[in-house]
Amino acid sequence: MAETLKMTQPLISAEAITKSYFKGQHKVPVLRGAGITAQRGEFISVIGQSGSGKSTLLHVMGLLDSPDVGEVILDGTRIDNLHQAARDQLRNHVFGFIFQFYHLLPELSLLENVMTPLMIRHSFLGFWKKRREIRDAAMSMIDEVGLSHRLRHRPSELSGGEMQRGAIARALVARPEILLADEPTGNLDAATGAGIMELLNRLNQEQRLTIVMVTHDESIAAQAHRTVRLVEGRIQGVAWEDAA
Ligand code: ADP
Ligand code: MG
Repeated sequence: MAETLKMTQPLISAEAITKSYFKGQHKVPVLRGAGITAQRGEFISVIGQSGSGKSTLLHVMGLLDSPDVGEVILDGTRIDNLHQAARDQLRNHVFGFIFQFYHLLPELSLLENVMTPLMIRHSFLGFWKKRREIRDAAMSMIDEVGLSHRLRHRPSELSGGEMQRGAIARALVARPEILLADEPTGNLDAATGAGIMELLNRLNQEQRLTIVMVTHDESIAAQAHRTVRLVEGRIQGVAWEDAA
């Protein structure tokens, strides 16, 4: 599989990304020329220790943050330097995000949480006209993650695994091309985490969803097609699943 994927233009790449933060006057380099590339349909994991810059790299890739140096390229077009409105559009249409702590809105039901990305695309009137369609899309995505019996529950009434399934449904309801996952099993016990990994693998295979996942956990990372290692702000080794 990796053989055929390698021949095509990458769907997304972050190239030679440098990013530093300032602590007061003191410049703290986080990424020092890190690069990562994903073909359409690939499931990649980025492994690195806590503080190695995994989240920063994912945020740069998904246009939540800008690189100091380097480029993010989607389907052959540079996207990190676009003006704000275009970046917002891309962020909402191309990327879906999931996080270690789910980030569901506590005052909304699961169904309302999953409807949110579709609702914010429309004016109030637009939403009103499309409300049935939006609701159906959210219900069908909730069904895909196995939570149809939890539609009216608030996040506080869900287990950790259920909250992450809900967050995955919310990330995918607008049918993005790329799912960016930041330690998606980081707050879950092993069995529940394995269930989330099964779900991500199924979505990758059945929908050809491209997934870039960061984790500090070797056994979780190994469940992707390919693992890259972030060390001192750079990508170290590349291990193809069929490394030959
Ligand atoms: P990881 O996800 O691998 O744990 P991060 O990308 O979150 O690492 O952070 C890498 C380093 O950058 C850490 O030392 C962190 O403290 C620092 N850092 C991250 N975000 C910020 C920020 N907004 N301001 C200042 N420092 C930050
Ligand atoms: Mg992190």
